[in-house]
Amino acid sequence: MAVLVKAAGKKPRGAVLGGPTSVVDTACPLDCPDACSLAVTVQHGKVVALDGSQRNPVTAGFICAKVRRFGERVYGPDRLLHPAVRKGRKGEGRFKRASWDEALGLIISRFERARAEHGGASILPYSYGGSNGLLTQDNLDTTLWRRLGASRLARTLCAAPTGAANQALYGKMPSVTYQDYPAAKLIVLWGINPSVSGIHIVPYVREAQKHGAALIIIDPRTTALARPADVHLAVRPGTDVAVALAIHRYLFANGHADEAFLRTHAHGADRLRERSEPWTIERAAEVAGIDATALEQLARLYAERSPALIRCGWGLERNRNGGNAAMAVLALPAVGGKFGVRGGGYSMSNSASWNITRPWIGADEPTSRVVNMTHLGRALTEYDDPPVDVLFVYNCNPAATVPDQSRVLRGLAREDLFTVVFEQVMTDTALYADVILPATTFLEGYDFAKAYGPISMQLARPVVDTVGEARPNADVFGELCARLGLRREDDPEGELDLLVQVLNGLPGTIGADLSAGHRPLPACGAAPVQFVDVFPNTADRKIDLFPAALEASAPMGLYRFQPDPATDRYPLSLISPASDRTISSTLGELPRPDVTLTMHPDEARARGLEEGDLVRIFNDLGEVHCPLTVAASIRPGTVSLPKGLWRRSTANGSTATVLAPDTLTDLGGGACFNDARVQVASLARA
Ligand code: SF4
Repeated sequence: MAVLVKAAGKKPRGAVLGGPTSVVDTACPLDCPDACSLAVTVQHGKVVALDGSQRNPVTAGFICAKVRRFGERVYGPDRLLHPAVRKGRKGEGRFKRASWDEALGLIISRFERARAEHGGASILPYSYGGSNGLLTQDNLDTTLWRRLGASRLARTLCAAPTGAANQALYGKMPSVTYQDYPAAKLIVLWGINPSVSGIHIVPYVREAQKHGAALIIIDPRTTALARPADVHLAVRPGTDVAVALAIHRYLFANGHADEAFLRTHAHGADRLRERSEPWTIERAAEVAGIDATALEQLARLYAERSPALIRCGWGLERNRNGGNAAMAVLALPAVGGKFGVRGGGYSMSNSASWNITRPWIGADEPTSRVVNMTHLGRALTEYDDPPVDVLFVYNCNPAATVPDQSRVLRGLAREDLFTVVFEQVMTDTALYADVILPATTFLEGYDFAKAYGPISMQLARPVVDTVGEARPNADVFGELCARLGLRREDDPEGELDLLVQVLNGLPGTIGADLSAGHRPLPACGAAPVQFVDVFPNTADRKIDLFPAALEASAPMGLYRFQPDPATDRYPLSLISPASDRTISSTLGELPRPDVTLTMHPDEARARGLEEGDLVRIFNDLGEVHCPLTVAASIRPGTVSLPKGLWRRSTANGSTATVLAPDTLTDLGGGACFNDARVQVASLARA
């Protein structure tokens, strides 16, 4: 696995209006699989443009429209410039400026009080995905929380069910990387829309199509890639497991299962065959609300074509059956005998491929309680053993992103809760803070950008000075450790010291390659062939198709289907997929065109609704008000609001999460965003 890095040199690009500019190389560490190399144009010490660079051959010089706008976050009106202390009611957003010393002093006193009254576990650190960088997440922050004995956080908003399935089946074996997509003769994009998220897959898919590959899209929406696809299955949300099991049944029943491969490389094939038995093509098609002929065509194509590649996305996991759906989808290449050739197998997060054990965190074994982040609302309003006295939020915006938004907001409004928000901009959550600490963005500090689609790592470096009084995570968590008397002799002192410590702790020669970064490294990571170059990281290096521990933990066992939670009152499935505007919720503060609910024309007609009508989307948990888009690009019975919205994006200050239950997926304890069942009506007629 190779490492990409380019030296910290500045290359003048010539004079433009307004004075000389320079172009600075860095990389994007945001929560996206691709980890683009970036060329940032700086003028008078300020970022004036962001673009892709060629240093990372996989991301090939282009970036998403989202990060092109990142300068608007750095210098925008929402940027937090100095620490502040609340002076209004919670949620009101009235603060008075404070010094760092004053703000940290206040936090320390509340930490100490919480520990004395209810123990360290009454402090709940809450972070997720605002950065995937090795310096800004799971670093000195974790060190601090461990030494404090704070509650531990189970990060479950994304990738928990798919991660659990991948771990159980394959021990998170490295998967097919983008560069090998063109070798495939069949590509299945299952529950993923790379036109808006992980965009660098798209050129590789197109290249494969040019070479004759068939493309299958499984998505309730007719996405940009679904239009030219050979087969598009617009499945009902939550039914992917039934579709995958029907393909298994087809493979077993028609002599397409690779029995020799299964005997040599897998356990549990018989149990999987047994569980797939009830899922005829017709039954699965009926449950999923799709055409049986199209499903059979997919099964036949998958059986007959090789190399065949399945990209397992995160869209299929966000429901009650998400873990079993991921299990059934990921088991397909084993049963179909699709491994062992370039472009064949499965493709998903390669995050674990680096085998980074984070030795810099220290060896302290945590034993404190675990709080599932999907249950934040419950934790803040119900937990009493111990209660949550202090909430410390960083790298995330739970007021907008966590299921059961009403309960989360009720919890955040608790007068006896002390909330710290360490953030770059005034988020929905920051409005509820008692103390705000301003954080640097990735353009103002160092980090390591680790891709989890391709296998590459790059050094991200500051391209401009810090804005206002913002500080990097390393400085703040390091200082909190020191002030609490928890600092140890070999702890790093500040960001640069931490950077060196991380370099030294990276596996193999990765650190050395990065530190010798005055030369660009030529390749962007390996492109391993599964069952040739890499094998399952399980105890016996075999695939476990029926892991006993998971069978015991799933509510109905493995490869089972839990029926749709729709009712007569709330018959519509609400999905909230990734959009081309935000990275999770990052950049949600930027102005955007009206957010709308997308609904199929048949459903709109049935409710007397028309394009542009202001509608209420509601269930027993809450409601969202916004205009309506009527489009045949979404299947009947399903409606869609974008993921990552901030409260300012809708007419009544609620987002899709207000309608999402905080129930958990069958495996992995993940969030069930797409199990929201709703009704839609005209707001004017309400
Ligand atoms: S968010 Fe993804 S596509 Fe956009 S710049 Fe960052 S790595 Fe590239």
